[in-house]
Amino acid sequence: MKIIRTAALISAALFAGQGAWAQERFITIGTGGQTGVYFVVGQSICRLVNRESDKHGLKCTAPSTGGSIANINAIAAGDMDMGVAQSDWQYHAYNGTSQFEGKKVDKLRAVFSVHSEPFTVVARRDSGIKTFEDLFGKRVNVGNPGSGQRATMDVVLQAMGKSEADFALASELKPAEQSAALGDNKVDAIIYTVGHPNGSIQEATSTVDAVLVPVTGPAIDKLVSENPYYAYATIPGGMYAGNPDDVQTFGVKATFVTSADVPDDVVYTVVKAVFDNFDRFKGLHPAFANLKEEEMIKDGLSAPLHPGAEKYYRERGWIQ
Ligand code: GLU
Repeated sequence: MKIIRTAALISAALFAGQGAWAQERFITIGTGGQTGVYFVVGQSICRLVNRESDKHGLKCTAPSTGGSIANINAIAAGDMDMGVAQSDWQYHAYNGTSQFEGKKVDKLRAVFSVHSEPFTVVARRDSGIKTFEDLFGKRVNVGNPGSGQRATMDVVLQAMGKSEADFALASELKPAEQSAALGDNKVDAIIYTVGHPNGSIQEATSTVDAVLVPVTGPAIDKLVSENPYYAYATIPGGMYAGNPDDVQTFGVKATFVTSADVPDDVVYTVVKAVFDNFDRFKGLHPAFANLKEEEMIKDGLSAPLHPGAEKYYRERGWIQ
C-alpha cells in the first residue's frame, strides 16, 4: 500500500514536470551573415517574442546562417522552424523549379514579407567596372553556396548566356568576408542581394573607393517581365560614401517562411509579437522603416500562408 502510494506520488510529480516542459518550446529562425539585414530580421523577431516568453513559453533564437537556400533547406529538413528567404527562392522551393527541381518543398509556408532587396554589385573604382557586362574577365565574389545572392547570380548569368567560368575568378566568400576582400584587392567586385542600408556595403564603400554598378539591359528586362517575384529596384544615391547618384538594378523581397509542420499556435504567437509591436519592429533597422502591414501579408509570397499567420491576419481584419 505504502509502495503504491509512493509510486502514485512520483508519477504525479513527473506528470506535473511534463506539464511545465510542454509549455516551454524553443524555436529557431534561420537568418544570414552577421553584416546583412536577415540577421537583424531574425534577431528583432526573437527580441519581440522573448519579451513575453513567460506568458506563452516560446523561446526564440536566430543564429547566423548561409542565407536563403540554407534556410529553406533547414526548414524542409525540420532542423529550423522558420527562416528568412528571398521571394524568388520561396517561389522556386515551393514550385520545385530552378535549383529546387526534383526537390520541391511542399510543406513550405509563407508568413509575411519584409524589406526589398536590390541585387547589388559593388566594384573597386580602379577596376574600371561600370556595367554588369564589365564583370566578365574580372575577379568576382559570387557568394557562398547556400546564399540567395549566389543562386540569383547564377540565374542572371544563365539569362545572359554566361556562367561563372566567364569570370577570371569566382570566389565564394561569405558576406562578412567579402568587403575586406574587396578592400584588400583580392577581388574586383562583390555581389549581395540585400536590403539598404546595410553594414556590409557600408564597410565595402568606406574601406576602399568603390562604386555601385547598375544591373540593367535586355536579359534583366526579360527576367523582370516574366517572373512575378522580380521587380526593378533603385539603390538611392547618397546612402554610401562615394555614391551620390541613384543606381538602377532589379531585386526581390525578403520573406519570412516556415513549415506546415510548425504548429499554428507557434506561428500565431510569433506573428502576433511582430504586428502587435509593429512600430517597435520598424524602428529596429532603417530597412524596415517603410514597411506596411497590408503589403507584407501579400507581396512576394508564393507559398500558401501558414494557418497560424492567417488566423492573426483575419483577427485584425486584414484578410477575409
Ligand atoms: N539575400 C541574402 C540571402 O538570401 C541575405 C541578405 C541578408 O542577410 O540580409 O542569402
